[in-house]
Amino acid sequence: MHIAVMPGDGIGPEVIEEALKVLRALEPAGLRLQTTFADVGGIAVDRHGDPLPPQTLELARASDAILFGAVGGPRYDTAPRAQRPEQGLLRLRKELGLFANLRPARIFPGLGAASALKPEVIDGLDILIIRELTGDIYFGQPRGIRTLPSGEREGYDTMRYSESEIRRIARVGFESARVRGRRLCSVDKANVLETTQLWREVVTETARDYPDVALTHMYVDNAAMQLVRDPRQFDVIVTGNMFGDILSDEASALTGSIGMLPSASLDSNHKGLYEPIHGSAPDIAGKGIANPLATILSAAMLLRFSLRAEAHAQRIERAVEHVLLAGLRTADLARGGETPVSTSAMGDAVVHALAAGA
Ligand code: NAD
Repeated sequence: MHIAVMPGDGIGPEVIEEALKVLRALEPAGLRLQTTFADVGGIAVDRHGDPLPPQTLELARASDAILFGAVGGPRYDTAPRAQRPEQGLLRLRKELGLFANLRPARIFPGLGAASALKPEVIDGLDILIIRELTGDIYFGQPRGIRTLPSGEREGYDTMRYSESEIRRIARVGFESARVRGRRLCSVDKANVLETTQLWREVVTETARDYPDVALTHMYVDNAAMQLVRDPRQFDVIVTGNMFGDILSDEASALTGSIGMLPSASLDSNHKGLYEPIHGSAPDIAGKGIANPLATILSAAMLLRFSLRAEAHAQRIERAVEHVLLAGLRTADLARGGETPVSTSAMGDAVVHALAAGA
């Protein structure tokens, strides 16, 4: 199996190093991976003048999966849009047709206290948010800022979804629910937006193929509220690009630290890009204090979805649980009285837990 490794900027290389350490630790158990590094984001702008150089895209196309760190940094904030690091990631998703973004949000044992919500609301939380990633108002044309005859400027974007785009993400939602709690909640704004009225119709039609999954619908404003009021009512949520962007960040806050949450962005053939949901965290880059667990858990998702190596994926997840139960905390997780460990110490601990057969 061939993995393209794209560390990117800021803490990206620091957390990727730990994830690779963990993947290598599975070699004695039979995992065979070939890894090739490529530049993406700000570092690619610096070295090649392009946040997604052709050779990086080529490598991504030729690989079975991509392990991605994070991109961005204040240095690039004033660059023209095409030269922004984030464009590297957006183009990669679009070019590879990575339309399904899976973001699990769960409370790991011992981390309940790190959540902003009361333990009785979030204990045992385990939800999966599936966000459509290549359509919607983020990509719809026409868009722009124009000057009206009155001389006033007007900004406009276009929300669009075709039936086939809705159906394929709905299928990912139903298939995912099938191997979890068999409950799927589709989130839309069908009372106001035509696009999401079609969304609701198509998701409802698709449900006929999945009689074993209980489908419900919820308006996005209610979903935003329910996620903080009673998040455990959800099993799998499926929604469009913009609503999913917001709801998945909200869900991440439920679990305590953004440094814990992995993600997968998949095409229709199980090829995927795996990355922590956090950004490049320029405020802590280079200090060796970033939490690598989101990236390590992203590597577990890579094994699960692209390599179909479920047993290895579970071993990593168990090892992460083990180090957390043992009390190891990076600075983002440490609470009063707890001494934080470094990025590499956390990676080492996961490796040791794996070696000990956690
Ligand atoms: P961020 O996720 O980088 O950081 C937000 C806060 O969380 C910061 O205080 C940071 O220190 C902390 N944090 C993030 N990851 C952490 C980790 N692993 N361990 C401990 N603490 C962690 O978001 P931001 O500050 O809004 O953005 C910084 C840069 O990252 C920007 O250039 C932004 O565009 C980019 N970004 C990239 C991605 C991506 O590559 N997918 C996603 C979001 C933001």
